[in-house]
Amino acid sequence: MAAFAAAHGRSPGLHIVLVGDDPASHIYVRNKERAGTEAGLIVRVHRLPAEATVDQVLAQVQALNADPACDGILVQAPLPAGIGKHGTERVFDAIDPRKDVDGLHPHNVGLLVQGRAALKPCTPSGVIELLDRLGHPIAGKHAVVIGRSEIVGKPMALLLLQRDATVTICHSKTPDLKDTCRRADILVAAIGRPGFVTTDFVKPGAVVIDVGINRVDSRDAVVGFFGADHPRVADFDKKGSAVVGDVHPAVAQVASAMTPVPGGVGPLTIAMLLKNTLTAATARG
Ligand code: NAD
Repeated sequence: MAAFAAAHGRSPGLHIVLVGDDPASHIYVRNKERAGTEAGLIVRVHRLPAEATVDQVLAQVQALNADPACDGILVQAPLPAGIGKHGTERVFDAIDPRKDVDGLHPHNVGLLVQGRAALKPCTPSGVIELLDRLGHPIAGKHAVVIGRSEIVGKPMALLLLQRDATVTICHSKTPDLKDTCRRADILVAAIGRPGFVTTDFVKPGAVVIDVGINRVDSRDAVVGFFGADHPRVADFDKKGSAVVGDVHPAVAQVASAMTPVPGGVGPLTIAMLLKNTLTAATARG
């Protein structure tokens, strides 16, 4: 960031569009705003009410496309139900691909498929960064990804494939899910179901990446996850809820390495967002 600022006389600008009142989205945006500011970016959050029309959101995106101080645009998903699936696609398609720091514009997804994207989806690229930095080889490994969403599962599978893994994508209609997962050297869970992946999904010694972020409101569930004496139960008693992953904590006894939730893939996703903003700013000059 400092080198960019010295060369261009300004800091990269990240602009986040936040529509509606979804509490989780507000927390995610606050975290992105804080991390970006700490890293030296100019971060601006543009808030629109839950009743905003597709045209109003599109107008906001188009204003940011035209703003020379804006290097990166992130429209926080999900958009309110009133925007609809088609409206959501129109909004995301309207982002200038050069400012698409989420890497989800069809132009950037096409480049990703061909292995030449500069702006890659943040969560999957964070997972690759994590595997690299911790020294877990990818080439030649069998990677199984549970989940096929546009934001995590599909791009995750593509990035692992580009790194020469043999990749299997599983989803809600996959038969023999456990058997398939048990063949994985690298198992990535991106499902959205608390503790779904239990020890019987995991080959001993596998590397397990837990992408899931699930809020749990039941004390019994938290005790079932961690055991009655665990600090996470005391934490639940203070807060009234807990955030858990898609992977049951007992998997840590079988896996050779496993990411925690919270504190694993989530912060890396934000780090990749900042990196993409710097990449976009540098490309624009
Ligand atoms: P999604 O709902 O779009 O997709 C979930 C996927 O899981 C689907 O492809 C579905 O086929 C699959 N699935 C559902 N039930 C299944 C089952 N019983 N068996 C096998 N597959 C099943 O969710 P998403 O946006 O990909 O997010 C997944 C999880 O990752 C959520 O918990 C989300 O909060 C979390 N997430 C975390 C980050 C992060 O920064 N760590 C970023 C994005 C999403």
